[in-house]
Amino acid sequence: MNTPSSVLVVGAGAAGLSVVESLRRKGYRERITLIGEETGAPYDRPPLSKQVLAGTWDAERTHLRTRDVLDALDTEFVLGDRALALDAATRTVRTGSGAELGAEAVVLATGLHARRLPGLSGTAGVHVLRTLDDAARIRGELLEAERVVVVGDGVLGAEIAATARLMGTDVTLTGPQAAPMQAQLGHDIARLLAALHTEHGVRLRPDTLVDALETTDGRVTAVRQVEGETIPADLVVSAVGSTPATDWLAGSGLLLEDGVVCDSRCRAADGIYAAGDVARFHHEALGRSLRLENRTNATEQAMLVAANILGEDRPYSPIPYFWTDQLGVKIQVYGLPTPTATVHIVEGGTEEGRFVAQYLDSDGSPVAVLGWNMPKQARGHRHHLLGRYTPAPAAAPR
Ligand SMILES: Cc1cc2nc3c(=O)[nH]c(=O)nc-3n(C[C@H](O)[C@H](O)[C@H](O)COP(=O)(O)OP(=O)(O)OC[C@H]3O[C@@H](n4cnc5c(N)ncnc54)[C@H](O)[C@@H]3O)c2cc1C
Repeated sequence: MNTPSSVLVVGAGAAGLSVVESLRRKGYRERITLIGEETGAPYDRPPLSKQVLAGTWDAERTHLRTRDVLDALDTEFVLGDRALALDAATRTVRTGSGAELGAEAVVLATGLHARRLPGLSGTAGVHVLRTLDDAARIRGELLEAERVVVVGDGVLGAEIAATARLMGTDVTLTGPQAAPMQAQLGHDIARLLAALHTEHGVRLRPDTLVDALETTDGRVTAVRQVEGETIPADLVVSAVGSTPATDWLAGSGLLLEDGVVCDSRCRAADGIYAAGDVARFHHEALGRSLRLENRTNATEQAMLVAANILGEDRPYSPIPYFWTDQLGVKIQVYGLPTPTATVHIVEGGTEEGRFVAQYLDSDGSPVAVLGWNMPKQARGHRHHLLGRYTPAPAAAPR
């Protein structure tokens, strides 16, 4: 494809903004339009469950760029307007305000919607955390709340529980796993995380499911567990996963299967690309499709999409990476721990409270590396994963 005469990016989060910035950095001078449903300047989400909930950062500090930097991108920002439909053949997007915006290349970067506990809309004191507005609402109630129940033992639930506990609140973390973040960390390390939470006074309710909430005058008063326990709560934060924001793409003709399905170039159709949390791309080295929900992926995938829009034709085959900060511990994970991988401490030690762990597959090959308060050292072990995550070079042309 020749360099397109215009680019339209839908979704003004980290991935959408990175596409715009990468295009301009690479010298693209044509028209760019960025549509975003939220009204304010693009902002970063990781601080929402950490510094913003804790009150150490105000909203402005989460902004990804200053107004001057955004202005210098020479991009039309259509904010506070929701994309309602895409015509893939003409690459035209219809928005809530009635605008019809078309371009020669379109990037879908609409991220995720937080999943909600069924039947709870309208219950006061029950929240999800995805946006800056959500964070402000939860923080406001956290300052008053005496007993918080966090439903969901994934990364987000564990982070919210950790932050609320550091604020001095009585916190219970419930979820179906044996330990928080077991799906991301594997059994051994998740048990250490459980111990960390317990040491700090977070009450864990592993292997449990929520049955119903109890309310008085429309406000939550307790969480009733399927197993029989009733946990008093004046604030409930539900972190039970997310769904890709692809509802508006129904009928577009694009393949939607837990995300926008793309090839290894992050291309969903001719001239249409996806980046960030919403994109399900084919990872050539792993030989399967992946969708990554992490901050580093949003930027790296966006950069690759910008390169491919400009004709580079590169596959996206990252070593997945995420971090989380909980109760004074920074955990970083490179690669994807598999359920059967065995964990070996290769630097530091669990009793020292800082270590690097390697996850080995049944054939002894490394599948992931984890750092526990050892960021530099963990990064030093990342290269062991190159073999697993780097596609074989294409056969040289004859
Ligand atoms: C609370 C929280 C904490 C996190 N902490 C970490 C962490 O510690 N480490 C880590 O690696 N990752 C973390 N993440 C994940 C990381 O923030 C995401 O992976 C990243 O934000 C994804 O960027 P994105 O641009 O793909 O999506 P988003 O940031 O969700 O941006 C998508 C944008 O598209 C907009 N949009 C959606 N639908 C439409 C539509 N139809 N029309 C127009 N606009 C639309 C949305 O309003 C949104 O602004 C965290 C996420 C959250 C929510």
